[in-house]
Amino acid sequence: MRPATRAVHAGRPPRVPDAPFNEPITMASTYVAGGDREYGRYANPTWSAFEDALASLEGGEEGARCLAFATGLAAVATVLDLVGSDQVVVAPRHAYNGTVMQLADLEARGRLRTHLVDITDTAAVVAACEDAALVWLESPTNPAMEIADIPAITAAAHEAGARVVVDNTFATPVLQRPLEDGVDLVVHSATKYISGHSDVLLGALLTRDDELWTALKGRRDLIGAIPGAFETWLALRGLRTLPLRVERAQANAAELARRLAEHPAVTEVRYPGFGGMVSVVLPDAERADALTRGTSLWVNATSLGGVESSFERRRRWASEPTTIPEGLVRLSVGIEDVEDLWDDLAGALG
Ligand SMILES: *Cc1c(COP(=O)(O)O)cnc(C)c1O
Repeated sequence: MRPATRAVHAGRPPRVPDAPFNEPITMASTYVAGGDREYGRYANPTWSAFEDALASLEGGEEGARCLAFATGLAAVATVLDLVGSDQVVVAPRHAYNGTVMQLADLEARGRLRTHLVDITDTAAVVAACEDAALVWLESPTNPAMEIADIPAITAAAHEAGARVVVDNTFATPVLQRPLEDGVDLVVHSATKYISGHSDVLLGALLTRDDELWTALKGRRDLIGAIPGAFETWLALRGLRTLPLRVERAQANAAELARRLAEHPAVTEVRYPGFGGMVSVVLPDAERADALTRGTSLWVNATSLGGVESSFERRRRWASEPTTIPEGLVRLSVGIEDVEDLWDDLAGALG
């Protein structure tokens, strides 16, 4: 089956008379003894339905196993918890800010060492893999929209005995399936495109490696960064329309990127040619702030991947790397009519 079909059909209850189409929301802290579930921190049937559906999308023909977490950063923390004391993590110098901050915090406390790289420089990343235990990738990166050569870096990392993780939040499994390139683990902030309606925080990990899945499930059981049943139910409801939403957001983003590149007020447009995320660079912070305050449709807000278009000047965050231009505005293009989105943007740019 193709992704659009998987998104609709995976993670459904068995088709028997009177069965509901959708897995119900199971609110349970514990289960009658003697089965596999036992306790609410270990298992929940609503989580399983969401995990099965996302595993089907991200794993493709060969399949994968998924674990849902309370948030994307809870999933990130669980992966980093597997890195041994004093081992090296190679990571992009531009990546999701929370991931960069988590790595910096762990390094400051002597838990691990980091080696930050420019992921567009494949030779430098390959060289850095040599002494790494874990190679962390984001492609496209947030908010610089840089692209990594995932297959080449994965091959080099595996040769050096390192595991490879890809944060696939921006691309979604509709546009990019890193497990098919041999990557060991995929991370999602399902808060973003997968849920898609700006009403849920949720994270997920995916792998084809049973041993790794068991180790990560053990960390989730022990640390307790589990999702809520209602959150996974909402996320599964959102996932049903993921391919449709991504298709529309991508078409809108490509058109807006083309028009923005021709606009005299815009210094630079960063669009990798796929997905719904676009970064535009204006000459300075003042003009970028004026843009984000000057629209009526576009919402000035952090986060991304919702049906509604939103944007923000990234350097308004003190923790954003200074290599990101002061005037960079990151656009999360929604599924509205592109002409309305353009009229609002062009008005504010003018
Ligand atoms: C939002 C985000 C995260 C963190 O996810 P939360 O659900 O907010 O904890 C991680 N990676 C990327 C790329 C993100 O956009």
